[in-house]
Amino acid sequence: MPVLIRATTIDPICCARTWKVIHLIDLDPRAPLVLDTRELGRRPGSQRQVSLTVPAPADLGIEVLSVPEGAPVELDLRLEAVMEGVLVTGSASAGLEGECARCLEQIREKIEVTFQELFVYDDIRDTEGAEEDDEVSMLRDDLLDLEPLLRDAVVLALPFQPLCEDDCPGLCVECGARLKDDPDHHHEAEIDPRWQALTKLTEDTQDPEA
Ligand SMILES: [Zn+2]
Ligand SMILES: [Zn+2]
Repeated sequence: MPVLIRATTIDPICCARTWKVIHLIDLDPRAPLVLDTRELGRRPGSQRQVSLTVPAPADLGIEVLSVPEGAPVELDLRLEAVMEGVLVTGSASAGLEGECARCLEQIREKIEVTFQELFVYDDIRDTEGAEEDDEVSMLRDDLLDLEPLLRDAVVLALPFQPLCEDDCPGLCVECGARLKDDPDHHHEAEIDPRWQALTKLTEDTQDPEA
């Protein structure tokens, strides 16, 4: 029984390399994001609609905003047999959790992403003697793995810096208070007496009339 190695932590930079390894290993038909395309058949034009809810894999997102592992991900997919393989077109929706990059408030929002990918038949590739191409998604014994596709779509859709709202004022630099909760928040400017003389001097220089 071939073993599917799953990376536990995926760094977006190295994830392509990680998946290259996984693509060479047989897929686990019981994995929630592995689909069996045998029912679809290989006659070009043959189509199947698939709707399913799967538990989110680990690290679906970025460090500050992600779909919690095991949370439901709703998938609506269309599988279509084409000459070279199976074309998958679909959408996924899930709940995100994270925190605002400015005020650290918890963020909960929904994400919906769409994706499309051609999974090439592995036996066609082999008979044509084509070189193994890392950029191409392959079917393995009529199974396809949606996880890399889903992960890429989610990561690409996420903001680089998640915010609780577009104009979140962040935290007070002096005391750390959340400025959104307290818009009038301010501190009395306390000027060190040693600087006061200097301030006076600057004013004098700037305004020759004074
Ligand atoms: Zn915020
Ligand atoms: Zn403050």
